[in-house]
Amino acid sequence: MFQTEDTYKHQGMRKGLVNLLREKEVASEEVLSAIGKIPRHMFFDSVFHNNFAYEDLAFPIGAGQTISQPSTVAFQSTLLSIKKGDKILEIGTGSGYQTAVLLEMGAKVYSIERQRELFNTTKKVLQRLSYRANLYFGDGFEGKPTFAPFDKIIVTCGAPFIPPKLVEQLVVGGKMVIPVGEGKTQVMKLIEKLDNGDLNEESFGNFSFVPMLNDRQY
Ligand code: SAH
Repeated sequence: MFQTEDTYKHQGMRKGLVNLLREKEVASEEVLSAIGKIPRHMFFDSVFHNNFAYEDLAFPIGAGQTISQPSTVAFQSTLLSIKKGDKILEIGTGSGYQTAVLLEMGAKVYSIERQRELFNTTKKVLQRLSYRANLYFGDGFEGKPTFAPFDKIIVTCGAPFIPPKLVEQLVVGGKMVIPVGEGKTQVMKLIEKLDNGDLNEESFGNFSFVPMLNDRQY
């Protein structure tokens, strides 16, 4: 069951989460302001999860997937230095919460999800909340060549390597944030495509994401 009410209690808890993320120094003020506006409890389909929606925790969202921890969403969004009007490709729509953060920041969002069930549910959740993203069911390793190039790319599943097609679909001067690594942990990488086509790569510590899988993996 999805919640549809944003009560004073939820709003209070949301302020608490914003303050916590500010203390943890994982987010820019622009990102915190977006998080402060989004009813995260409406992205969960159970009353139990609802009570924890504003804790800094990751949660199962069905189909064996998880909604990323708020501090991780905040950190990835901050690394991208999002500007109003940025055209952003997201790999791993999941619950749609990260999608909502990008939209609240004024980005135009294209998001790909490979789990049919989640894709269908999340489409409805975002529509109900009036978040307008371009949502696609498909394989993130392929990106979305029809709408390339993108100013920014955000990968929200653990990638075994940096997918070459995503690099191709990044504008020169564009940025991609991607957790890279096989196994339980990944290294958060920020990749910038330079004028000469080379990549500048920076690493930002270890994180744990569900794996980025291709069409043949289940
Ligand atoms: N951004 C999401 C995070 C969800 S977890 C959120 O805020 O909730 C990562 C998601 O990536 C999962 O839903 C998983 O199904 C999806 N995923 C994994 N491999 C993928 C691929 N190759 N293409 C697209 N999505 C993929």
